[in-house]
Amino acid sequence: MTPDNDLRQLAEWIRDASWVTVMTGAGISTESGIPDFRGPEGVWTKDPEAEKRATLQHYLASPEARAKSWKGRLNSPFSAATPNAGHIALAELEGKGKLQMLITQNIDGLHHQAGNDPNRIIEVHGNVREFRCMNCTDRGPIELVLQRVRAGEEDPPCKSCGGVLKSATISFGQNLERDDIERSEMASVSADVFIAIGTSLGVYPVAMMPDLALRSGAKLAILNAEPTPYDGEAHVVLRERLGTLLPRLVEMV
Ligand code: NAD
Repeated sequence: MTPDNDLRQLAEWIRDASWVTVMTGAGISTESGIPDFRGPEGVWTKDPEAEKRATLQHYLASPEARAKSWKGRLNSPFSAATPNAGHIALAELEGKGKLQMLITQNIDGLHHQAGNDPNRIIEVHGNVREFRCMNCTDRGPIELVLQRVRAGEEDPPCKSCGGVLKSATISFGQNLERDDIERSEMASVSADVFIAIGTSLGVYPVAMMPDLALRSGAKLAILNAEPTPYDGEAHVVLRERLGTLLPRLVEMV
């Protein structure tokens, strides 16, 4: 089939489906100016050592790493980013009643900004809107910590217990929230159509979700510029830029 026929076929499956699950990765946000990790312009493709520095163990052990991380957050590309045509198309898909659950590995909050219902979004790797204490249960808007960093505290400790503060993201080496994984598994086995978008499908356990969906009888579509380990099993693979592809797809639904 030509890519256009593949796109039409996918739109038809979505129209006929009673449950569509979408799973997004960093690739949907590159057109909003946030680099991915493993794409050609990815943070880790350009600096492989950065992957080692991104672990929870390194963050907890090193006050310098924490100071660098908080300083980086002051000028992070996340703060100025806005949803692009791909995010907006997924909000429209939900508006058409054709997106039951949106599993995202992204921490940028752009699906929320685009207008998807927060109850349908599962942020499996957390988010950068909040901070959390790694010692007690303290949590809150990250802006409160950033204000302290701007005022000169390099590594602000928890105001309740003195513990280490961190953004409410899941670092490598950190456990995922059990509830998020269970909800993602439910969304995957319930799907008639499962669409993996802008993800290299290399980060587990999230990368297992397409397999769960397939084994439960779903049609699997992969929309990603580069090959993924699941391309051979997918019913449709499309490699166009997501900011162009997703609006076309949603218009056909
Ligand atoms: P990844 O970096 O491993 O893969 C991204 C994929 O998207 C690549 O294969 C790339 O070819 C593709 N891609 C990039 N731009 C595209 C475009 N415009 N159109 C089509 N395809 C495009 O990302 P991942 O699988 O999400 O895993 C990385 C981990 O890093 C995740 O845990 C994620 O949370 C985190 N991360 C998040 C952000 C964010 O929140 N925006 C940014 C970087 C990394």
